[in-house]
Amino acid sequence: MLYLGCHVSMKAPKYLEGSIQEALQYGANACMVYTGPPSNSKRVDVEKLNIVQAKRLMEENHFKSENVIIHAPYIINIANTLKPETYEFGVSFLKNELKRVEAIGSTILVLHPGSHVNAGIEAGLDSIVNGLNEVLKDDDTSVRIALETMAGKGSELGSSFEQLQYIISHVEKNDRLGVCLDTCHIHDAGYDVSDFDTVLNEFDAIIGLDRLLVVHVNDSKNERGAHKDRHENIGKGHIGFDSLYKIVHHEKLDGKCMILETPYIDGKAPYKEEIQKLKEID
Ligand code: FE
Ligand code: FE
Ligand code: ZN
Repeated sequence: MLYLGCHVSMKAPKYLEGSIQEALQYGANACMVYTGPPSNSKRVDVEKLNIVQAKRLMEENHFKSENVIIHAPYIINIANTLKPETYEFGVSFLKNELKRVEAIGSTILVLHPGSHVNAGIEAGLDSIVNGLNEVLKDDDTSVRIALETMAGKGSELGSSFEQLQYIISHVEKNDRLGVCLDTCHIHDAGYDVSDFDTVLNEFDAIIGLDRLLVVHVNDSKNERGAHKDRHENIGKGHIGFDSLYKIVHHEKLDGKCMILETPYIDGKAPYKEEIQKLKEID
């Protein structure tokens, strides 16, 4: 089964109900939301998110609640060893976020692993391990954290499968961890997305395909290995339509949620057209 959707907004007054309405308008059967602004950590009480109304709408439209993916705000940085308050803030935010994700009925929280801010790769990775151990220690939800593959911009961690596996293998409750594969990010990190079978084989050998929970389907404005992280519309970038189409329909990714995070065009969401093009069977 193909589960294809996109990033949708969650805002007052309809919140989650509005998010599902937006996804349905695009012809999506999966979607991703931030529980508040991606760049800050102010969060509205879950009681106000219209979860009951949203679930009714999902049921009416055979939209599975586990196909609602939540993305943690990108200001969270538990890799930061230089500012303990940043690390502590990230840990406490994530503890609460897992509860919000469960309340929403979602099962996956996507997280950017973090940046080591010049403390070095190993220090950063170990800090992420410590942070995740703290977050998961007393957590009683069953939400899984999907560490996102990153482009390697600045001191960003998680730009190789080896780094992600390092984190996963060192976290105690690592049955709670998985990976979100972002096509723009891995392309920018240097992986050859046009030879996706090789990429997936490498992923399987290093991390294991059973850990792959979500795919972010984006084209890239930059050449392979550019370490930039600038998303482009499907078919308009350096990855190209054919490669992305193959990924979306890859038999080994059957049943995984595929989420578009492509840019708006002239203030308009491109998702309806992009989803339609990617869905078509040739
Ligand atoms: Fe992301
Ligand atoms: Fe992404
Ligand atoms: Zn990105």
